[in-house]
Amino acid sequence: MSRRDEIAAGLASVRERIDRAATDAGRDPAAVQLVVVTKFFPAGDVRLLAELGVTDVGENRHQEAQEKAAECADLGLRWHFIGGLQSNKAAAVADWARVVESVDRVKLVGPLARGAQSHPLQVLLQVSLDPPDADGRSGCDADLLPALAARVEEEETLELRGLMAVAPLGEDPARAFARLSAIRAGFLADHPRADWLSAGMSGDLEHAVRHGATHVRVGSAILGSRPRVK
Ligand SMILES: *Cc1c(COP(=O)(O)O)cnc(C)c1O
Repeated sequence: MSRRDEIAAGLASVRERIDRAATDAGRDPAAVQLVVVTKFFPAGDVRLLAELGVTDVGENRHQEAQEKAAECADLGLRWHFIGGLQSNKAAAVADWARVVESVDRVKLVGPLARGAQSHPLQVLLQVSLDPPDADGRSGCDADLLPALAARVEEEETLELRGLMAVAPLGEDPARAFARLSAIRAGFLADHPRADWLSAGMSGDLEHAVRHGATHVRVGSAILGSRPRVK
């Protein structure tokens, strides 16, 4: 099987899963945007994805993504940054990314806004679904969202679009995403236009779609397993 056929098969199966989950939830499948997570995979795969109709790709490391985005600049893809963000890299990320999904603290906002001078940057706030004492926690506590959202809204080059979350390892994703859905309802009451919800990956996208995800971030179910170390 060629790499193109492999990726086409993975894409078809994930698109079918999204369609079925949306239909089961009484939602329009077209309201769920697929973001293919290409971290660790080469620019050649990104090119194949674009040929197969993918419009949105996600990366979690600045340097790797910057190089790939430059190699794939002719493809017209929308690049999402979905990883842990250091404030000293935030401005540089804003240069190639059109969506930054992992904004979890006020300190990132100024540098992102400065980096987004040449184009508007869509921003999602990452909210943590982990217990407060969990290791390797990413995302902010739900009670910090109002202040973070207010700070993003002060910046003209940033567009507050919604929320992002990752289901904690070891917890039933249905429970985690039910919690997320409640957090989002509160957030939407204050920010009705920030209606994106990025949730769901290869293993749990059905649960996320059921709980209102508008974006799913899927890597391994399309591209295969990633190498463990880089
Ligand atoms: C890697 C990653 C994904 C994709 O995970 P898969 O299990 O390969 O689908 C989604 N979201 C984030 C934040 C990631 O880092």
